[in-house]
Amino acid sequence: MNIQITRFWKIYLICYAVLMVILFLAPALDLLEPLNKNQIIMMIFVPVSFFVMGILPFKLPTKILVGLILGTVAGFIVGPDIVIFTPIGSIFLRLIFMVIVPLVFSSLFVGTQSLGDIRTMGRIGFRTVAFYGLYTIVGAAIGLMLANGFTPGEGLPEDAQQQLMANYGDTAQDKASKVVKPSFLETLVNIVPKNIFTGISSDPPNMLQLVFFAICMGVAITLIPGMEEKKKLVVNFFEGIFEIMLKIINVVIEIAPYAVFVLIADAVGQFGFDLLFLLAKYTGITLGGLFILWVTYIPLSYFCTNLNIFGFIRGVWPVMTIAFSTSSSAASLPVMMETCTKRLGVSQRIANFMLPLSITINMNGSALYQATSAVFIAQVYGIPLTLVDQIVIVLIATLSAIGAPGVPGASFMMLVVVLTQIGIPIEGVALVLGVERILDMSRTTVNIMGDSTAAAIIAHWEGELDPPPELLKK
Ligand code: ASP
Repeated sequence: MNIQITRFWKIYLICYAVLMVILFLAPALDLLEPLNKNQIIMMIFVPVSFFVMGILPFKLPTKILVGLILGTVAGFIVGPDIVIFTPIGSIFLRLIFMVIVPLVFSSLFVGTQSLGDIRTMGRIGFRTVAFYGLYTIVGAAIGLMLANGFTPGEGLPEDAQQQLMANYGDTAQDKASKVVKPSFLETLVNIVPKNIFTGISSDPPNMLQLVFFAICMGVAITLIPGMEEKKKLVVNFFEGIFEIMLKIINVVIEIAPYAVFVLIADAVGQFGFDLLFLLAKYTGITLGGLFILWVTYIPLSYFCTNLNIFGFIRGVWPVMTIAFSTSSSAASLPVMMETCTKRLGVSQRIANFMLPLSITINMNGSALYQATSAVFIAQVYGIPLTLVDQIVIVLIATLSAIGAPGVPGASFMMLVVVLTQIGIPIEGVALVLGVERILDMSRTTVNIMGDSTAAAIIAHWEGELDPPPELLKK
């Protein structure tokens, strides 16, 4: 192994040595409280792991995986104190979110206009939306069947309910009160922005409005007859913006292994493992359902493309580690662009068109989560659900998953909408808040797997999937 310690890592070592001397001398001089055992372990384990990750001559995806594993270990052994390192993860996420609006807009505009004519756009658009729509319904239906079959909410002891309510009632109430509950028609109308700038300046940005506006512009430019010079100028400009955003991400992604380390360590460190036991059945069923959904993509990609099974999984795993650690489809978009085009061989125009659309409307893992959670909460409250209620759950879970932005915790908020529609007390969301993080990480991974699979399949159908030879079926 050819290990090279660059100047950056030499300076890092010197700074670290100085910091350690200060940390150990300062308490002796009464300048600082002495570190406790956990903090000492942390101050050794985390910086040393960073150093090792930095000098190992691995490729970036492997380093990200190493970050994921070491971060999990760090979360276990250090616990909540790890929070001191979370700014690294937050800065990484902010840097990615910083480029998301211009990236989605330029990608979708360039992608839509490059499809050329309305018929091609219509065909690809229809296939994309149909695929996501159907699969999201499948996700919600699997969730519903599992929750009905295994009844995780029945028999949850009274004291466990009270403990969950006491721990999470206030936070859940606070979150639920911020949710606006538009009707179906209002949701539909809201896709059309009154003012695109107010739409994108909200937090999180209204991605559906952004997508709608970008597609309108992409379609409109193809409808203008002549004016080739001007049209080329506009397209070149947005192509340039797209390239610049990707360049920023290419630089930012270098810190991904460390950010992933910190994000996962934080998730593990903060996680209430005692709750996992209380909610074991609900968590197990939701994770099991997500795993089933994830697995279905493997034969689908095999039968509907020319990719071999292991090649496909190897191709997509870098983006899955990002999705898992960030809990955000939007934050995973730039890496997904790279993975789909460079590793799987999806054409640039299909990726430009489909992937920004996917992170916005494809949330089949989230639909599954909403279905299991709604049924679980109803069962805990002893509210019987009729067949019509169940169908309504599938529909509302599907629609609210489509409407949820690809950011952490989005469908937890949408769960309030689902509960309201079927008359389940919304305070019930407190029951599932304690295990929300692990479920969010997992459903985001499934959402992203769906996005990548659909891009590969539709690219293949359009004759625009050109994988490297080692990924091809034998
Ligand atoms: N975090 C999910 C995603 O970004 C959305 C959600 O289900 O909360 O895909």
